[in-house]
Amino acid sequence: MGGPAPADSSWKGSLNVSYNIGPGFMGSYSTRKVKMHIHSSNKVTRIYNVIGTIRGATEPDRYIILGGHRDSWVFGGIDPQSGAAVVHEIVRSYGKLKKEGWRPRRTMIFASWDAEEFGLLGSTEWAEENAKLLQARGVAYINADSSIEGNYTLRIDCTPLMYGLVYSLTKEIPSPDVGFEGKSLYESWYKKNPSTEYKDVPRINKLGSGNDFEVFFQRLGIASGRARYSKNWRVEKYSSYPVYHSVYETYEIVERFYDPTFKNHLTVAQVRGGLVFELADSVVLPFDCRNYAEALKNYAEVIQNLSKNHQAELKMYNVSFDSLFSAVKNFTEAATDFHRRLQQVDINNPITVRSLNDQLMFLERAFIDPLGLPGRPFYRHIIFAPSSHNKYAGESFPGIYDAMFDIENRADQRKAWEEVKRQISIAAFTVQAAAGTLKDVA
Ligand SMILES: [Zn+2]
Repeated sequence: MGGPAPADSSWKGSLNVSYNIGPGFMGSYSTRKVKMHIHSSNKVTRIYNVIGTIRGATEPDRYIILGGHRDSWVFGGIDPQSGAAVVHEIVRSYGKLKKEGWRPRRTMIFASWDAEEFGLLGSTEWAEENAKLLQARGVAYINADSSIEGNYTLRIDCTPLMYGLVYSLTKEIPSPDVGFEGKSLYESWYKKNPSTEYKDVPRINKLGSGNDFEVFFQRLGIASGRARYSKNWRVEKYSSYPVYHSVYETYEIVERFYDPTFKNHLTVAQVRGGLVFELADSVVLPFDCRNYAEALKNYAEVIQNLSKNHQAELKMYNVSFDSLFSAVKNFTEAATDFHRRLQQVDINNPITVRSLNDQLMFLERAFIDPLGLPGRPFYRHIIFAPSSHNKYAGESFPGIYDAMFDIENRADQRKAWEEVKRQISIAAFTVQAAAGTLKDVA
């Protein structure tokens, strides 16, 4: 539905323009200048994070964190309460199990963050305060903001380490979608949104930011993931959803239009809760480093392809991606070998299991560069960062990407291409160093 608003619309304001219900602007309006007066208050106030834990029975010093924010711009009917309610239900389920005498193998930490909308403040403050513990003991972080931004299919953004876990888990969860009765969530998800990068699997997105996982993943290097129900991106190309952050985000809009039976909320709860369960309770961590190897190869090819329009410059300034591809190859071999050793591990030997699990836990940490990305000291993951052009989206090999972005318009070409070379070496060095952490320990 688009075009001008009906003349008798009661909702129209009193500006001297033709009102338009969208989508998009009409004609010359997109170039019109508007002077706005904003009235907001600037004050220092107290924020509250609420943290709950279930102590792990066998490895209490290994943490799986489920966190989502509680503050909202207005009523927060979707963002964040459709997600916060899911966190409550997951906590309630684990509380029930705990009353029956169950405890997870590792410690579960549940967090209700405050002041996410003001700049991810609650989660960032908490992670800064606990940075040393999290770097030493953090296994995974699962983010739980809005459970829905649509009701078409599942959407997952996560580290490649979790791809295998997400695929196996969604094969165990029933699909809530009409026309997929008796089928798995994986099946409807795959059918509606197949991957364009990998064969025969549903699409998984890269982690960007704009949410509370940022400090855990981009700054500390803790394996992270998020899940929600989403729209059909091929048809609805706008970002987020039409009432995002507005006064129209109410409980009513969820109950009447988005998810009347709350079946999508239930599915998202099963995915988020299931991820936490598997991460906290599996003897061997459900991380597959071979998927990271495959992703790295893919990202290296993508970034090299971006340079293909600059053949003359590549030659003139002696720019080569060989070191990066060589590091990715070494990483792939180390990952294959590691996976083989993992298959042969004696699961009754707790020291060996712990040793291999620690290699898996610290793999994400190995991609952290303490110096951070250029001009962005808190984005320290060398493989992923929020895009410099859209904070919500993820970019792979962001250092190289940003160095090459719009490079033809830089005044000093030699300097610009030297920076590309520097970023390629940082990426190659980091991937090679990460490969080293997967090798047999002695
Ligand atoms: Zn939110």
